[in-house]
Amino acid sequence: MLIDTHAHLDLPDFSADLDAVIGRAEAAGVARIITVGTDLESSHRAVQISEHHPAVHAVVGWHPSHALAAPPDIRAELKQLAEHPKVVALGETGLDYHHLSDGHSPFGQQDQEQHKARQRDLFEQHLEVAVETGLNLVIHQRDCFDRTLEILRPFADRVRGVFHCFVGTIEEMNQVLAVGSLVSFTGIVTFKNAHAVRDTLAATPADKFMLETDCPYLAPIPFRGKRCEPAHVREIAVQAAQVRGCNLDSMADTLRQTAEKFFPKLG
Ligand SMILES: [Zn+2]
Repeated sequence: MLIDTHAHLDLPDFSADLDAVIGRAEAAGVARIITVGTDLESSHRAVQISEHHPAVHAVVGWHPSHALAAPPDIRAELKQLAEHPKVVALGETGLDYHHLSDGHSPFGQQDQEQHKARQRDLFEQHLEVAVETGLNLVIHQRDCFDRTLEILRPFADRVRGVFHCFVGTIEEMNQVLAVGSLVSFTGIVTFKNAHAVRDTLAATPADKFMLETDCPYLAPIPFRGKRCEPAHVREIAVQAAQVRGCNLDSMADTLRQTAEKFFPKLG
């Protein structure tokens, strides 16, 4: 049994054939799918999908890339959503400086600082709600690893995070584990040039990582460039077992225990 711990089933990419997508996942042995909201509307849609499909659970939050569109305070609504029996964590939240610093940014210097401050504020709101509700956090970070850890650290005795779509070094992975959090790997581990990510995956302790598709993005080989879907977590798992030199079934069993511990309401 496999689990896709990070999907975006509420995106329009899946609206035409969602039932078939979930059916194919179940046929591929993917018994659970965690669908992740990217703003409050998307989070409500994620919860609705989880209500209609026993295999699907939801994560609710506001993605840092859309931070400027967020209302000033989303804590009350997050808290309310978190009470739903199928909501298993908060997120995805965190920091994304990628498009702020790539030279193609539409933002001036002052706007960039404002965007960063807004991302940080939203991230901290998720952390506060996580403490209050006892749920963990799905963390997105791009091009600001140190800053993300710095904001998480004061909460790390009460909240655990999963650094999703992890592409960091072995040293960065160890820093994540040192604050009690986990890492999660996508189909990137199947990409030809992703030697460094495979090295990190190979070095990660068996009970400190999860697997995800991040679909509809990042389809693993041999589906690269096509729409990704939860069934493809199987290709990721096969590659991960090979990289780690371990048996697929026993790795899947450990992965399930890790996910059930991290998302206690998954059960
Ligand atoms: Zn995502």
